[in-house]
Amino acid sequence: PSKPSLHIFDMLESEVRSYCRSFPTIFTKAKGYKLWDQTGEEYIDFFAGAGALNYGHNNAYLKEKLIQYIQGDGVTHSLDMATEAKEQFLKRFQRIILEPRRLSYKIQFPGPTGANSVESALKLARKVTGRSTVIGFTNAFHGMTLGALSVTGNKFKRRGAGVPLHHTVSMPYDGYMGDGVDTIEYMKNYIQDTGSGVSLPAAIIVETIQGEGGINEASISWLRSLETLCKEQGILLIVDDVQMGCGRTGTFFSFEEAGIKPDIICLSKSIGGYGLPMALTLIKPELDIWEPGEHNGTFRGNNLAFITASEALRYWENEQFSTRIMEKGKLLNIRLQEMVASYPQLIGKVRGRGLMQGIVFEISGLAERICERAFSKGLIMETSGTDSEVAKIMPPLIIDEAGLVQGLDILRESMEEIAA
Ligand code: PMP
Repeated sequence: PSKPSLHIFDMLESEVRSYCRSFPTIFTKAKGYKLWDQTGEEYIDFFAGAGALNYGHNNAYLKEKLIQYIQGDGVTHSLDMATEAKEQFLKRFQRIILEPRRLSYKIQFPGPTGANSVESALKLARKVTGRSTVIGFTNAFHGMTLGALSVTGNKFKRRGAGVPLHHTVSMPYDGYMGDGVDTIEYMKNYIQDTGSGVSLPAAIIVETIQGEGGINEASISWLRSLETLCKEQGILLIVDDVQMGCGRTGTFFSFEEAGIKPDIICLSKSIGGYGLPMALTLIKPELDIWEPGEHNGTFRGNNLAFITASEALRYWENEQFSTRIMEKGKLLNIRLQEMVASYPQLIGKVRGRGLMQGIVFEISGLAERICERAFSKGLIMETSGTDSEVAKIMPPLIIDEAGLVQGLDILRESMEEIAA
């Protein structure tokens, strides 16, 4: 096979703002947990469209349903009008996801992306409480729009747009100040410090595991204390499950293990099932005080996404789906711990759970070099963390053990070569 067309690649690099520097090739085909490029080279995908491809590339079942729908001239775009595809999705989401978990939420379509969901959550929290500030966390990531940026604990992302933590406060995350510091107590003291001019926030927004911020996992007890703090102080709790939701950690919602019931939940990425843009904001019924048309947007009626989204929910009818994710997560963790044992000089630790885990490297720039090497050997992986210090492992949830092990072997070899 010949080399990729460098002309096109040069153009991608020089004439458009694009994201191809980390993966310098031109992809042509994708199936399950694999991609292929122009030269016929095969890649294992440990990136899964940044979490948008939990059910794999071109999932055969979803593809068939999508083709059937298109061939039947189903409505493709319908703004906010009611369609059969939308109705089917809503019914299934209610029956397959909310009812078995005894969760009661109103479902809002806030726009096509994760940031749209975060925006609607922040706006609603402010409207419901009549307050303006929101607490976010160090290293949090909530999206690129101004509101979402204002709760994103990453100076680099905010700086260019001149977004200060204006209406927000970035609080230390669980474990951020070491195991001995109770960050909930810290937050409580802060909130109550009205003498210093601190005002009660409208909401606290949290990721149960910070995906972009370095696979920082909040403990179950911390999440429960956070919920209690919110209840005691009359603050709304927003869980941003855009990246960790839809099964990434093993359960459909990432907060299920903690048994908490957030006031508002943000979902996107894999909710569309097939990598199609879609987002949801789930709102406790008593908080739904939106007036008609108060938060709208053109692309809330992507019916192709409703079709694949409702078919993808079928995976959750079978308990085995969840169990298998957790089993594969355990295998992943064992393999990663072995790498830590082999390279204690390079690796600090392994973080995360389910199919969302990361290796924290001690040496600056190392995670990036290892991901680069892994790519040259046929593995797609991204880094995470403010200093890109974490190699992030996030394969499609449908990956089998053989694929997982094959990818991990490449990762290990890449580490060996860099360490040599
Ligand atoms: N919240 C979280 C936790 C995310 O990981 C992301 C995307 N990485 C977003 C929000 C923003 O989603 P989108 O890029 O679809 O706007």
